[in-house]
This record gives sequence, structure tokens and C-alpha cells, in this order.
Amino acid sequence: MATVILVTGGTGLVGKALEHVINTEPVGSRFGKLPNETWIFASSADGDLRDPAQTLKMYEKYKPTHVIHLAALVGGLFKNMKYKLTFLRDNILINDNVLHASHTQKTTKLISCLSTCVFPDKVEYPLDENKIHSGPPHESNFGYAHAKRMVDVQNHAYKEEFGCNFTSAIPTNIFGPYDNYDLEDAHVIPALVHKCYLAKKNGTPFIVSGTGKPLRQFIFSWDLAKLFIWMLREYDDVEPIILSVGEDEEVSIKQVTDAIVKAVGFEGDYSFDTTRADGQFRKPASNKKLLDRIGGFQFTPFEEALDISVKWFIDNYDTART
Ligand code: NDP
Repeated sequence: MATVILVTGGTGLVGKALEHVINTEPVGSRFGKLPNETWIFASSADGDLRDPAQTLKMYEKYKPTHVIHLAALVGGLFKNMKYKLTFLRDNILINDNVLHASHTQKTTKLISCLSTCVFPDKVEYPLDENKIHSGPPHESNFGYAHAKRMVDVQNHAYKEEFGCNFTSAIPTNIFGPYDNYDLEDAHVIPALVHKCYLAKKNGTPFIVSGTGKPLRQFIFSWDLAKLFIWMLREYDDVEPIILSVGEDEEVSIKQVTDAIVKAVGFEGDYSFDTTRADGQFRKPASNKKLLDRIGGFQFTPFEEALDISVKWFIDNYDTART
């Protein structure tokens, strides 16, 4: 049977990683393209998903049998804090339109992308899939978090009322080629890579905000892409699943910085600006459910993944989102 997989947000960090994996893994292999598959990587130029008519038009054009829904208004802490209503409304509209079109156009399977931001602010760690709705999210990004949480609610409602095969993935912090390297608005890894690159280029100090002590779980976008492909083929459960490296693979911001300094080839000194806030010390998420279901998966070692990302950034500095 012909399978048409539409990836919304196909031009972003995760969409580009899916495209990379599908085009580089051997055809017919576990994560490679299958002979009956057509993959479509859509951007906002294919249609603004906040608009129901444009969303429907995209579905009528591509007739997807499967959808990996990545499109979202995404941003760092500052942007999230400043534009709470925009993050809430744009993401609610995008998600509602994609879920509804997937239902009316009889898409066989839909996987949407949440984020660990959906979890309650006050929660017992490690995070796991059962704790999403057990308390309010952190106040700094409640717009984005509530919009994403609602996808899980809708998935259950679509399944119960119409029997739809809709589900969702919860990745931890993602990094890789095609990330957003904007100095004001990027996540921690791309922001530090860009800062370190400029320090090397301009011979200026490299200053890292905070103490360097907080711990985070980072997943390489190419690994995440493989996990989405596994979900597409093998995970048929409405309940969300955390896609992450293990809790024992947390790295400190200092370790991240050392790896970046090495990958960039920065030879000066760097320092921590301890007057700047650290954020939460750690917020570990369990990948037990993933490992139980997938039955073995080889994550790319952190330093190797970081090298690939830094090399991509340096080679594509003129066209990267900076
Ligand atoms: P990016 O910001 O890199 O890409 C966003 C994508 O969404 C782009 O392809 C963009 O299209 C598309 N898009 C945005 N608004 C619209 C719209 N109104 N209509 C149609 N398309 C739109 O995002 P990421 O790849 O980083 O994120 C992918 C998913 O992963 C998101 O759902 C995000 O919430 C989630 N996530 C991300 C994390 C991270 O660390 N980055 C962590 C956890 C979850 P265009 O290029 O045309 O603008």
C-alpha cells in the first residue's frame, strides 16, 4: 500500500533531521525509507497551519496517510515570557487544525510533538508519561505548555469518539544541524556554540551565563528522528512517550561548554557569569517506557553529536538562523 508521510514543520531542526535520516539510512532498513513511502517535508510556505482553510488545502494536495506533526511556534525563555498569548493561541490553532484535518481527511496515523515544558512546575522527579496533567506548568511558558498539553487531551478525545490513531512524543532538549542559533532567542547549546564561535573569530572573551552546574538531558536531532520513524512504524498507543537519553546521561552546562570549546577550537579562556540565573538545577525525565518498547537503541555519544552540529554551524554560518 502506498504510504504518504507528511511532516509539518519539515524545515525546522527536527524536520531537517528526519529528512537527513530518511535520505541517508539504507532503503528498507529499520530507519531508512521503505520502497512504498513518499515523504513530504512541509514548511509554512506550503500553508499557514493557523488557518483551517490553508491546512485543509495542504491535506487535499498531499493526501497524507501518515502525519508527523512538528510545526509549532517555538522559542526560548525570553520570547515565551513576552508573548504568552501568541504562544498559546498560535499553537492551539496549529494543533487544532492539524488534528481536525487528520480526522476529516482520514489520516491513518498522526504523531504530534510535545515538549518536557508540558510537565508540572512542582513535580516529583524523574518526569514520566503519567505526570503531564498533575499540576500547573511553569509560569514562564504556560502559554506554550498549555497548548501542547491540550494535544494529549485532544488525542484521547479523537480516539474515544472517532477511534483515531493519534499519539504524541515528548522530547527533552534537542540540538543538531539546522537549529536556531539566534543569540537572543536560542536554546542553550546553539546559543553557546554561536557565542564561542564569535569569541574565537573576534578574539573576544567567551562568557557563559550562570554557574555551569545545572544538569540537562540533550537528545541529538538525528537520534530523535530515528525514534520518530520507530514510532511511525511500531508505536500505536494514544498515550504519549518520552523520547530521551537516559537519566544517567545528564550533562552539566560546564561539560557542554567544554565540548563546545573543543569542537569550535576556541583556545582562549572562558568564564562563568555567576550573577546570571541558572534556572532549575536538574529536571530529569525517565526514558524507561521508550527502552521497554523499542528494545534497544544506540544513542550517538554527546561529543560526537556536538561535533557534527558545530561543524554544520561553521560550514553554514551565512545561511543558518542566527
Ligand atoms: P523549529 O523552530 O526549528 O521549526 C519550526 C517549524 O514549524 C518550521 O518548519 C516552521 O516553518 C514551521 N511552522 C511554524 N509556524 C508555522 C505555521 N503557522 N504554519 C506552518 N508551519 C509552521 O522547531 P523545532 O524543529 O525545534 O521543533 C519541532 C517540534 O519539536 C515542535 O513541535 C517543538 O515544540 C518541539 N520541541 C522542540 C524542542 C527543541 O529543543 N527545539 C524541545 C522539545 C520539543 P518555516 O520554516 O516555514 O518557518
